[in-house]
Amino acid sequence: MGYHLNAILGEYKRLQAVASAMPPAVIVPLAGELGLIPLSEELFDAVNQNSTENYEEAKPQMFTRLSARIASWLKSLSADEIIAYIEAEYFGGAGDQCAVAWRDEIEVLPPTKGKDSINQALRLLGVRAESGKDEFDTVWLGRHRTMEGWVDEGTARQRVALAPKTEFTYPPFGEAVESFRRFLRDQGCSDKIRWLWREDICTRRAPGSRRTWNRSVFINLAGPSDKSLVERYYKYGVNHNLGIVLEVFCLAAGYSCCFVYVPEDETDAEHRMIGGLKLNVPTQPVIARGVSNSWSWAILRLLVGTPNNSWIQDLPRRSDAEWASQCGTCGHPNRVLWGCGSFPQLPDVDKGNYVILQRCEQCGALWCMSPYEPYLSFTFLAAWPYGQHEWRIVHDVDNGNTLLEWHAAMIREHWQELPDDERQHVERWRKRSYGHNPIDRLPLTTHPVPLQNSSEMEAIVRAISEK
Ligand SMILES: [Zn+2]
Repeated sequence: MGYHLNAILGEYKRLQAVASAMPPAVIVPLAGELGLIPLSEELFDAVNQNSTENYEEAKPQMFTRLSARIASWLKSLSADEIIAYIEAEYFGGAGDQCAVAWRDEIEVLPPTKGKDSINQALRLLGVRAESGKDEFDTVWLGRHRTMEGWVDEGTARQRVALAPKTEFTYPPFGEAVESFRRFLRDQGCSDKIRWLWREDICTRRAPGSRRTWNRSVFINLAGPSDKSLVERYYKYGVNHNLGIVLEVFCLAAGYSCCFVYVPEDETDAEHRMIGGLKLNVPTQPVIARGVSNSWSWAILRLLVGTPNNSWIQDLPRRSDAEWASQCGTCGHPNRVLWGCGSFPQLPDVDKGNYVILQRCEQCGALWCMSPYEPYLSFTFLAAWPYGQHEWRIVHDVDNGNTLLEWHAAMIREHWQELPDDERQHVERWRKRSYGHNPIDRLPLTTHPVPLQNSSEMEAIVRAISEK
């Protein structure tokens, strides 16, 4: 089978600007930050328009499509960047390839012919061959064998990129998971889903390396998978509106081990052809070994560890997902306390004795607000982890006494997690209140304290709901 390619190579972002200024040009991303513009007949004609040059005479001997006009156009694109032009034509084992590259309009790779010339251009563009591959395979230049293949991919990508962002619609998380399950069955995979984070993978396997490819991949199956975080991360993706992918990472122990991918930015979304919700199963999913014992897992993490390479980088880290998916208004669920003046303005939903329940309109989280001495001028908001109904009942048990003790315990337990400026404010409050605050509380003599730790509220709320 043959192979034919005439193309411009360069940094993807640079070529993106080129392609939008020269309409017949379409761009295809390569590995890393690189892109490729196939020099199609249409693009060739557009650049050579009105040129009186006889390009057959003007072109350097070895190239078939590099007219003087094309060469000077490419040169002009090379300010501060390397721009390369390559040609390759093979049929039945015979053929040749050639390359040339410029930077700041100067030839940094003079016209070069022979079997390593494209690799030379790629090396200049910063490509490092992965082990067991050359540069050509590392950036996956073999994925189309004809010019049409490259142009078609570029055109399809352009269509996705031009689709107005507002057209994206996302089903609610539950529906998205249901259609993903159907998709998995259609693809012959188990519809039992196990959600994975990057921390749940242990392996010494690296991409493209023959030496390590057969190494085992271990998956953490100890403990429940955090479905609520997955759902929050999905919602974060919806708010981000760059598209979302539900994807299989590997198969293990009867599960399809999956993850949610949210593109970093528009370029990333275009790169991966994501628009709205996309479901994906790799052609040959990795078969991994599930580890359900937490001790074994801890030892594996110690001995084998999580690789830090491109093969695994699409998997979000649990910690990143937690930060990304917190509420922009109230910080729920990472933040559980707001102190002393700097807190979001939330609407009240219920009022009690020196205590108010508020709800964040953005995420629906409930917050309990109460002022402290002196002069009730220091106010704190503590995240109320139960419902509005429970709040009212707990309040009415002793006119808010238990509720206020819980609130005080939340401050005592969490004030040190506050950001620096808020913590300094709390320190000033401690000084001004002469010990009359929940952190340095003087021994109470008048009444027994109904609750010492905020976690004791759990049992109280459970007792109420069982009644
Ligand atoms: Zn919120």
